[in-house]
Amino acid sequence: MADIIRLLSDSVANQIAAGEVIQRPASVIKELVENAIDAESTKIIIHVKDAGRTLIQVSDNGKGMSPTDARMAFERHATSKINSAADLFAIKTMGFRGEALASIASVAEVEMKTRRHNDELGTFIHISGSELITQETASTSAGTTFLVKNLFFNVPARRKFLKTNTTELKHIITEIQRVALPNHNISFSLYHNETPVYELNAENLRKRIVNIFGKNVNQSLIPIQSDTHLVKLNGFVGQPKYARKTFGEQFFFVNGRYMKHPFFHRAVMQAYDKILPHDMIPAYFIMFEVDPATIDINIHPTKTEIKFENESMLWQLLGAAIREGLGKFNVAPSIDFDQEGSIDIPIAPKSTDGIQQPTLSIDPDYNPFESHKTKATHYTDSSGHKNTENWESLYSENTENNQFLIQTENEAVQANFTDTNINTSLEQGRNILLFKNKYLLTPVKSGLMIIDQRRAHQRILYEQLMIILTNEEGVCQQLLFPQTLEMNKADSTLLNSIIEDLNIIGFDIREFGPDTFIINGIPGFLDHSNAKSIIESTLEDLKSGNLNIKEKAREQIAISLAAASSIKYGQHLSQDEAGRLIDSLFACQTPNYSPTGKTIIEIIQLDEIERKMK
Ligand code: ADP
Ligand code: MG
Repeated sequence: MADIIRLLSDSVANQIAAGEVIQRPASVIKELVENAIDAESTKIIIHVKDAGRTLIQVSDNGKGMSPTDARMAFERHATSKINSAADLFAIKTMGFRGEALASIASVAEVEMKTRRHNDELGTFIHISGSELITQETASTSAGTTFLVKNLFFNVPARRKFLKTNTTELKHIITEIQRVALPNHNISFSLYHNETPVYELNAENLRKRIVNIFGKNVNQSLIPIQSDTHLVKLNGFVGQPKYARKTFGEQFFFVNGRYMKHPFFHRAVMQAYDKILPHDMIPAYFIMFEVDPATIDINIHPTKTEIKFENESMLWQLLGAAIREGLGKFNVAPSIDFDQEGSIDIPIAPKSTDGIQQPTLSIDPDYNPFESHKTKATHYTDSSGHKNTENWESLYSENTENNQFLIQTENEAVQANFTDTNINTSLEQGRNILLFKNKYLLTPVKSGLMIIDQRRAHQRILYEQLMIILTNEEGVCQQLLFPQTLEMNKADSTLLNSIIEDLNIIGFDIREFGPDTFIINGIPGFLDHSNAKSIIESTLEDLKSGNLNIKEKAREQIAISLAAASSIKYGQHLSQDEAGRLIDSLFACQTPNYSPTGKTIIEIIQLDEIERKMK
């Protein structure tokens, strides 16, 4: 019997390879644009007709090719980018497989003109379905232009597989975004049926992001940065309020190459935990720079999934960089392109009429808990100034002077302040309008700031509780009349599971019999008249939370407790109280969002107001 195994012809082999590399017009564009980048181009122009079905043209001003290279470039495994297997571990170029041009030429008609900068004449090549039709010298500008016509003309099955023009164009735009973001120093233009889609000049990353995703994103961008021997990280993450329910503005790049990385995506999501509802996805544009030897870009034919050597370390570094960025930049949006990180904080009105030069009477070492031997924590506010106000005292227990009551329908929150910890420079001339006993309105530099009073107080209490839980140094205030809690089995089991943490915070709660507890004391900064209902509503709130993981449990307790003991809507605050609430809020690490991710601060921009008044 005759032998039956034959070698496939080159053109068939190329078509099979093309199945892997070239799935749709967007893949052709990706490969051609990557080649242009590898050729050190500074300007790349892309024209597409009918979403790339009939024509794709990519022109660059890169280094061009010699006549021999021009022909060689279309051979399978022909590449100028690596020589040996060892080079695979030091790849700095986008391409390296030497497959793309051979694949494209096997499933389309390709015309290429190319000239090196020092050559007088260039080369023209026409290939159709892997077959060389023409090669001749030609006069052409320096660089390379590819024309890819009638994609899949010889593979009808593939042609049929293409989606609508809208979908194919969307794929093209996605590819351009992925390549244009990390290569923001290169100018890119994309035209579809002669209409410009992008006309991007060389620019910094921030401007590139804004020019691709629109002006709205600008105010939301928070720079992140980290520089260690393992990785250099930089880029931007979006403010929580810019987050969406759908994907589309999440980008990781490693050494200038787009990558998908579900594991790192989770690291980002975790950094937003508690400042973003769980179904919202923040925008991010994050560049990793690593030693090429520590990644394997070879695991996926279209090369978007990348394996790192030190994934868990990078996870930590990434999370830390994002948290740091979010922490630093937590007050209000920046307005300016170049002032990355500029922040708007509430200030006193410009007019000095009737206002004395403020005198600062702060005792930076004032400690409301001194007598109880706890340490006060000093915060740095977002403008970088140390906020010396001890906001812990905002709702602290009774001490000597300046005590007053906030009356509500069914409760009285006691609060007191001592002169020593009032920052008069902020107090002077500040105007706070209490709106519907729900919002605090105050003018700031850029417009009108609105603060949700209840959420603000929740944020303040939450951060305070977390510090106490972490340092395990809560201060208990004994109740004059201990209160008894009788509850059902489920609630008593729940309370038992958190009783240790509650007592660390400063409660003094003991089991007193079957399903009965006695509250002997509660933390000094909480409302005493309400001990029982605080515990009850905390338990109620906790039932919906997740108490399985230890540190999560503490967070959940802090959230629930903050919600249960915060001031309520409808509660009237005095000017002083409102002022101190605002100061305390701005001393928080994350003043913008409540512990459950709801907006606390909104600024109506001046120009918006002026537009409305026209
Ligand atoms: P790879 O990019 O993996 O090397 P390709 O098939 O994409 O493989 O390209 C083959 C070769 O053709 C490249 O290695 C490069 O030398 C050359 N080449 C392709 N496109 C260009 C271009 N726009 N400018 C200069 N050289 C190019
Ligand atoms: Mg290539």
